[in-house]
Amino acid sequence: MSRVILCRFGELFLKSGNRRRFEGVLHKNMRRAVAGIDGARVEPVHGRVFVHVPDDAAALEAAERLQRVFGLVSVSIAAVTGADLDQITAAAVTLADRERQLCRPASFKVEARRTNKAFPHPSLDIARHVGGRIIEATGLAVDVHQPELRVGIEVATDRAFVYAGARAAPGGLPVGVSGRALLLLSGGIDSPVAGWLSAKRGLALDAVYFHSPPYIGEKSRDKVMTLGHQLARWQALDSITVVRFTETQKRLREVGPPELAVVLYRRMMMRIADVLADTLHADGLVTGENLGQVASQTIQNLTAIQAAARRVVLRPLVTYDKVDTVNLARRIGTYDTSVLPFDDCCSLFVPRHPATAARIQDAERAEARMDVAADVAAAVASAERIMLTPAGEGSGQSEGRGAARPAIVDLPP
Ligand code: ATP
Ligand code: MG
Repeated sequence: MSRVILCRFGELFLKSGNRRRFEGVLHKNMRRAVAGIDGARVEPVHGRVFVHVPDDAAALEAAERLQRVFGLVSVSIAAVTGADLDQITAAAVTLADRERQLCRPASFKVEARRTNKAFPHPSLDIARHVGGRIIEATGLAVDVHQPELRVGIEVATDRAFVYAGARAAPGGLPVGVSGRALLLLSGGIDSPVAGWLSAKRGLALDAVYFHSPPYIGEKSRDKVMTLGHQLARWQALDSITVVRFTETQKRLREVGPPELAVVLYRRMMMRIADVLADTLHADGLVTGENLGQVASQTIQNLTAIQAAARRVVLRPLVTYDKVDTVNLARRIGTYDTSVLPFDDCCSLFVPRHPATAARIQDAERAEARMDVAADVAAAVASAERIMLTPAGEGSGQSEGRGAARPAIVDLPP
């Protein structure tokens, strides 16, 4: 039997003047999400979106993917029947019986609504009628306040939908409606979460990873690629650009006081990221920085780091407790990768007691002893861009944003 996934989006943007544009982006993202599922078709209807699939297996796969689409708040897998009370009742009884066997709910409730006011039975009558048949067929008890199984019924003009409950989707805004930003992605716990939160606010993202071979091994690079693929499952990342950072780090060690090392690294990261962002048409930078989490992340140090950037630096985790970040990383699916024990370049040549209140003029004094522009240019020239593909999309897409791009390498999904 053919299935429909009912997809609900937040009322937030129903009210906004951007509604049409937001919905257009949401539909495009949903099509991307179900691409590759045979026979899947996205049908926008008033106030939500239906995704048609040919069978149960496709429905489960599509629902799982749609649960990772920002802008949707919930999805339900529904059976489609004619707009006819007998057909609706039969489908609801079958569904309730299957749920009884699978999940053993103690109680149920029927929630009916009709968008087709010409349908001869009011919503309450539908619920009562169907509820009665479900009791007869399954022996389940009704609980209208806290049912363990909610049987949903919606009657449209020429068809009706019957479903059990709703699965949560992440909410937020459709990826892309807020523009594009460049995420500084390390192998840690924080930056993937910061990227996910930015995507949730509608930002499309590319990432840059600063790599320092041979001090930092290939395992660290692979780890960042794995994190990138995990974010791509949420459409939260389109590409990762790997920049060689070894020479810059060595030079900074020569010119700067050791206690400023981390701030100097970050300032160079900002400058290099800004140049890459020009090419990628990204309007902001995103980091996983957090206030006070490590000695180097003080408001003075963040100020010294920000001063080197031309763009706004978004720090979605600035107010987060670590435990909240960790919980979110688990939900996103990046945590287990993030805790793999491979070094990041920020641990290179760093003293035990880094400066906690770096001053911009001290950083500038150190940088005056080197050719900053030449270093930025060399790092940018080393850049290698790897495109990421979300689940279901064919690999190798490259949609020609911007002319001068770093080398593109396709990675299998
Ligand atoms: P994370 O868990 O994201 O590594 P963290 O709490 O360990 O963050 P730091 O290591 O001090 O903090 O890094 C702060 C931020 O700087 C990171 O969240 C990331 O945005 C950026 N960053 C650090 N190292 C790199 C790197 N090698 N490549 C790209 N960005 C980096
Ligand atoms: Mg880190």
